[in-house]
Amino acid sequence: MRYISTRGAAPVLGFEDAMLTGLARDGGLYVPETIPTFSAGEIKAMAGQSYEEVAFTVMRPFIGDSFADDEFRAIIARAYEGFTHDARAPLVQLGSNHFLLELFHGPTLAFKDFAMQLIGQLFEASLTKRGQHVTIVGATSGDTGSAAIEAFRGLDAVDVFILFPEGRVSDVQRRQMTTPVEGNVHALALKGDFDDCQGKLKDMFNDFEFRDEVGLAGVNSINWARVLAQVVYYFTSAVSLGAPERAVNFTVPTGNFGDIFAGYIARRMGLPIEKLVIATNQNDILHRTMETGVYETQGVTPSISPSMDIQVSSNFERALFFAYGGDGAAVAQQMDDLKTTGRFTVSQGALEALREQFASGRVSEDETSAAIKDFQRRTGQVLCPHSAIGARVADDHLGATPMVTLATAHPAKFPEAVEAACGTHIALPPHMADLFDKEERMTVVENDLRQLETLIKGRLSK
Ligand SMILES: *Cc1c(COP(=O)(O)O)cnc(C)c1O
Repeated sequence: MRYISTRGAAPVLGFEDAMLTGLARDGGLYVPETIPTFSAGEIKAMAGQSYEEVAFTVMRPFIGDSFADDEFRAIIARAYEGFTHDARAPLVQLGSNHFLLELFHGPTLAFKDFAMQLIGQLFEASLTKRGQHVTIVGATSGDTGSAAIEAFRGLDAVDVFILFPEGRVSDVQRRQMTTPVEGNVHALALKGDFDDCQGKLKDMFNDFEFRDEVGLAGVNSINWARVLAQVVYYFTSAVSLGAPERAVNFTVPTGNFGDIFAGYIARRMGLPIEKLVIATNQNDILHRTMETGVYETQGVTPSISPSMDIQVSSNFERALFFAYGGDGAAVAQQMDDLKTTGRFTVSQGALEALREQFASGRVSEDETSAAIKDFQRRTGQVLCPHSAIGARVADDHLGATPMVTLATAHPAKFPEAVEAACGTHIALPPHMADLFDKEERMTVVENDLRQLETLIKGRLSK
């Protein structure tokens, strides 16, 4: 399997190199050159299989000869053994024909663990084989950082630096990043918002001298391997609801467009997904783009669903690439427009292609709190604010086809917002109960590229 850049001007890579690189050297994102498909019979055969078995079947065609079958099976097994639910991604029913896919049974209580735990194992296997060291720098709106730290802490072949927006993540999220004691973990609180963190990360990748000197690697959702890991639970959930005979809909709380893009890939692979619904909070650039065809950043307004406080939605570039029929030059032009003017207009043809694939909805702050309260009253389920946004938008799209809302985090990660909404305090699970007793370790950094690069070079353990 070969991977090409969405901007059409970077080297074509195999799976392992695309994974270890992260961002393409032309500023684009790697996508598979062709998307493998499954027959109805192959999908049907997934019924009754374990999460790990389906994961192997779904991901195998994408990894080419990077890993032998036995090795890849062992990697998958290690990735998910730390989850606290045997099903890994269990489905519960939320209402008539409405289901909740619980993606928060991993070590850091958010869906990011599905991809990050796998990537941790894949990196370790690759780097050990190659005798290489890499410097992982990640930007986080809260959950990616803790998931990355959990996956990479203590590994010899990796230093991991996480940039998070100072004061804009929940206490639980921050403590998950600042309390690990391993020397290869570096939590950096950046004076800015998430888009600033992501912007600095992209600047580091575009500084080729720095990039090559430190062996920079990215594990943000721009990393194709992360998207791939997330394709799996679309299959397991759809199959348990009757696919391939029965079609299924999904609603996905969305920020950087990684999770929902995995759903798009699942559909392209032959999974009968009828609707893929984007659910955003008040930072609604994706919803506005779908409505108007104009992608325009307006600055981030902090919300009670901080993991979706994003206005530059990186993976949307992948959706654009396919909407433009694989025209990398057209995508590069739009991204140039965005950089210079803060906006771009999607062509009529590409907009129609996007609207064929995605519906969308937006939920305000008040509506988010009301949804948490409402779903608790109707179902007894306490949802995290992100999941509540998904469930609220999904309600507008219920019908004869089963709807699955992705529950992206455990409510205990956002206890203040949840308690304010519905009056219930959700305690952290036992394995994290001492989180608030631990010492924190972090460095506050300016929103400045040179300072950041100097700090990172100085900290490398090598
Ligand atoms: C990261 C995150 C999201 C957004 O996911 P994307 O893949 O960036 O769209 C939603 N909810 C939670 C809890 C998250 O951590």
